[in-house]
Amino acid sequence: MNQRTVARTIRHRGIGLHSGHQIRLEIHPAAANSGICFVRTDLKPNVEIKAQPQAVFDTALATRIGSPEAYVSTIEHLMAALFGLGIDNARICVNAPEMPIVDGSAVPWLILLDEAGVEDLGIPRAVRVIKKPVEVVDPRDPNRFIRIEPSKQPRITYSIDFKNNALIGSQSLTLSLTGRSFCETLSHARTFCTAEEVEFMRSRGLAQGGSLENAIVVSRTEGLLNSAGLRAPDEFVRHKILDCIGDLALLGTPVIGHIIAHRAGHDLHTALAKALSDASEAVELRTFSARRAPHPLVRLLDFPSSLAEIPDFSRLSLVSG
Ligand SMILES: [Zn+2]
Repeated sequence: MNQRTVARTIRHRGIGLHSGHQIRLEIHPAAANSGICFVRTDLKPNVEIKAQPQAVFDTALATRIGSPEAYVSTIEHLMAALFGLGIDNARICVNAPEMPIVDGSAVPWLILLDEAGVEDLGIPRAVRVIKKPVEVVDPRDPNRFIRIEPSKQPRITYSIDFKNNALIGSQSLTLSLTGRSFCETLSHARTFCTAEEVEFMRSRGLAQGGSLENAIVVSRTEGLLNSAGLRAPDEFVRHKILDCIGDLALLGTPVIGHIIAHRAGHDLHTALAKALSDASEAVELRTFSARRAPHPLVRLLDFPSSLAEIPDFSRLSLVSG
């Protein structure tokens, strides 16, 4: 199970959800053990921000890394897509403080990464094996939590409960968490919000690039505003898992454990990532040499090297803004 990067540079242009501006983005190959690094190319001199739990400084509406003077926001969907194809190392140059929103899911990112191809860097990838439970609870609302428990295989159980919104309602999903299951089951799930939230964000100058092309919008009175409907009946909880994968990808390694989350969000996902990066007694960092007989975990974490290996992958059209 070796580390990967992209085989060639990818270029993309897309609209930013909050600014509404066209954003230029390049994803470049990077060396083993360098991780995922974002570069703000519009700042002089350019500012590099390494994707790691300690870099998170805000989680309102999206995951934001860096500092108030130099940050990149809404990194989670691309981070999740990088996880899906097992890409550990890349240099992501962006000329804005936020990532393009594409269609609100991870599918356009997966297609772009797949077009570039993945390259095996010949250096083993580390994994984090959970030895003891680690839990994070919202101090203001003990009903919101995320925890991870020891498990023979990576799994996730996620539940949401939108009491004030009958269309979203309560949804729960448990699944094995692999690159393959991410691409098949989760990658197409879009970000969602309520019509009231859109109004509130617009009044504060946010969501200027938001539209029904890049988000599911649910109105309390009129129901689902997207005329084409949902991509899955439980698209809401699937997107929450997508976000969670993107946030835990800040760790830079896959995690072998069972994640159990209830009404969580970027704040709790990234707090768990921080806890797992420190919790040395609860977490064992391991690498499996490719020369020895494959360890069962290596098979479990066998990331697809191309979307062609995933027959059920739905190629939804790439929205370029
Ligand atoms: Zn999201």
